[in-house]
Amino acid sequence: MYYNTDLFVFYFLTLLFEIFQMNKNWKFVCLGIILSFIISPGCAYNKSSLPDLLVDNQQIAITANPDAARNDCDTLVITCIDYRFAIANQEFINNTLGLKDNYDHISIPGSIYNLVNPETRDLLFSKFSLSVSLHLIKRIVIISHKDCGGYGGSVSFGSEIAEYETLCTDLRNARELLIERYPTLEVDLFIESLTTEEKPKVRFEKIP
Ligand SMILES: [Zn+2]
Repeated sequence: MYYNTDLFVFYFLTLLFEIFQMNKNWKFVCLGIILSFIISPGCAYNKSSLPDLLVDNQQIAITANPDAARNDCDTLVITCIDYRFAIANQEFINNTLGLKDNYDHISIPGSIYNLVNPETRDLLFSKFSLSVSLHLIKRIVIISHKDCGGYGGSVSFGSEIAEYETLCTDLRNARELLIERYPTLEVDLFIESLTTEEKPKVRFEKIP
């Protein structure tokens, strides 16, 4: 939805001026009607404005870190696609692990679930190989998460312990497979989970 803000402000101020010329009762009625018109489209504007930020063929440029202009990076990070963890993952990778502008990032449903699965293993290795050979990475960071749709969610495990043990086992199997293929690589494993507090947090745990 598109609003011409200048025109809107002009009409709004003109209306206010007219209303303040009226008697007391009519002032309240008119102000009530105007407020209801402002609040409804205002909410719609907030929800739908993002896709219209760029019109067709318009371009924007976002400043890149000069350090990112080199030909290789140190680390490949593999995560699930789950939107609930996207912001926390960026924070964890960039700031906690200190990898800002120094990693390739592959997001795939279930994280390394498809690497552990023999049927899809080759496809994943072919994608990982590009990162390893193209950017000369030295380390792989794998993050799996609880309640992952790639595994069918937490309910598919039967218990919290069973879920945790399966995720740990899959992560360790993935590390073995990767080191078998790339013996010089360091592989670090993490499990993340969403807490159920009033203000939910994403907790990360390093798996040995
Ligand atoms: Zn997932």
